[in-house]
Amino acid sequence: MSEIHKFLFDGLPVRGVLVRLTDDWREVLRRRSANTSQGAYPVPLQNLLGEMAAAALLMQSSIKFDGSLVLQVLGDGPVRLAVVEVQPDLGWRATATLHGLVPERATLSEMINVKGGGRCAITLDPKTRLPGQQPYQGVVPLQGEQDEELEKFSDVIQHYMLHSEQLDTTLVLAADDQQACGLLLQRLPVQGQDNLSGSSTHAIEDQMGHNEAYQRIAMLAESLKREELLTLDANTVLHRLFWQEKLLRFEPLQGDTGAHFSCTCSRQRVAKMILGLGAEEAQSVLRERPDIEVACDFCGAQYRFDAVDVAELFRQDLPMPPHNGTLQ
Ligand SMILES: [Zn+2]
Repeated sequence: MSEIHKFLFDGLPVRGVLVRLTDDWREVLRRRSANTSQGAYPVPLQNLLGEMAAAALLMQSSIKFDGSLVLQVLGDGPVRLAVVEVQPDLGWRATATLHGLVPERATLSEMINVKGGGRCAITLDPKTRLPGQQPYQGVVPLQGEQDEELEKFSDVIQHYMLHSEQLDTTLVLAADDQQACGLLLQRLPVQGQDNLSGSSTHAIEDQMGHNEAYQRIAMLAESLKREELLTLDANTVLHRLFWQEKLLRFEPLQGDTGAHFSCTCSRQRVAKMILGLGAEEAQSVLRERPDIEVACDFCGAQYRFDAVDVAELFRQDLPMPPHNGTLQ
């Protein structure tokens, strides 16, 4: 069963989350291997997608946000798109699109940043959006401060957090075909840092002291090896790293309240998509084949609409009055 462990460092403005995805991660991989037209992910992509899933769950469980968090990598190499979507209830899904072969031991840039055009995007889409409101999106390139190519996905997220959110973040990620795991540490803004008193000497000294504590804890976290993160249970990992610190642990999130595989596709959504194509386009597909078949890339579900279903869709659609009252 997948687990999410949240914790605070007593007296220090540092918080942490540790995530271990197990059965839900294996379910994502099983569905992909079962898809005969796509087949299993090449190992380097499998591991990247697992690290992305762990990172997305870490982020969604550490923010108070009532909407979906979508973590995307838009690549210019053989991996064109890798995407993980996490709902507020921690139901999540993931998929990736390939265009060409991924070398056996491909690095991150060999997969997604061959010509330096790769991007990582994080979208927060609120559940209830006001009219005209756009989802919030932040995008970062896959290069670091010195324009060097980032080869660890955790570095991409750290870079994003620092630039888009002004948050010191330390991230360790690891995935294989059995589990996807991650550890996140974040320095919380010191009280008053963002208001006028934040410029006083006292506040700056205060912040520097807290910075030291954060740096010490971040260094401990960075000593965590990939193998340890993948093979040790959460309690052992936290004890090994932080046995000298005083941790305040929260009740772990698991089972119904924790991370679980969940796809939001439905026949109704596919119907909407076909309506979006327009009657003419839909009819032209039906002249070529007996039905319109749409498969969900996330869960593999197949939705079929034959001529009768399609006629029914557009018949229902017809009496809709044209709406011209939309806001500009
Ligand atoms: Zn689906």
